[in-house]
Amino acid sequence: MRLARPRIISETRPLVEERRPPASRLRPHSWLSEESAALYRSVQESGEPFGLYLSSNAEAKVREHAVKEAPKHLEVMGFLLGEVRSWQGFQYSVARDVVTTQLRSSASKVRFDPDAFPKLFVGLDGSGFEYVLVGWYHSHPGHTCFLSRTDLDTQRRIFNQPYHSALVIDPVNKDIKAFRLVPGGYEEVSFAIFTPSSSTGAKRVKRRRLKVEPVLGC
Ligand SMILES: [Zn+2]
Repeated sequence: MRLARPRIISETRPLVEERRPPASRLRPHSWLSEESAALYRSVQESGEPFGLYLSSNAEAKVREHAVKEAPKHLEVMGFLLGEVRSWQGFQYSVARDVVTTQLRSSASKVRFDPDAFPKLFVGLDGSGFEYVLVGWYHSHPGHTCFLSRTDLDTQRRIFNQPYHSALVIDPVNKDIKAFRLVPGGYEEVSFAIFTPSSSTGAKRVKRRRLKVEPVLGC
C-alpha cells in the first residue's frame, strides 16, 4: 500500500498527558489469532498499558469498511485519530475515531484518490476533536496480516513515531493485527478495544493540532 506523504504545515509537540489507560469495558478483538490473543493476555496480566487502545466506534468503522469491500477483494485504508498518553513510564495511544475517503484500490494495493483529498480533510476537521494521527489502518483481503515492503516504507516515511501504529485487517480470514516500527523492521503491538464512557469522551481531547496537506503523486 502506497500512501502519499502528507506535508506537515504546522505542528506543536504533543503534550503527552499522564493518565491511566481505559480500564473498564476492555476486550480483545474477536478476530485475534492464537498468537495475538496470547500477547493480549500477557499484557493484561502484566498490568502495563496496551500499546494501542481502539475505541469500539473506531473498531466497527474499520471492520465494516474492510468487510464491505472484501467481496470485490479491494483493499481499504484510512487514518487512526486520537491522542498519545503515558502512564507510569509507558507511552500508549488511544484511537478514538477513523477517517477515510474514496480510494483507488485493487486486491494488493490501495491509495487515496487524489481528487478525494478535500473530502478527507473535511472529514478530519469534522471529527469533532483536536486530533493526533496515531496511525493508519488498511486491509489485506485474504492475504493475512503483516507489513509488506511497501507498507513498511509508508510506515517509515509517515508513521515513524513510537506512538504510530499500523492496523492491518484481513476481513476474509478474520484476522487483525497492529504493528509498529522497531530498529531494522517492525513488531506486533498489543491492542485492546474499549467502549468510551462519558468521562473519556472526545470533548476532553485537546492535545495537538496537526495540519497536514497531501503531497500528490509520490
Ligand atoms: Zn499492506
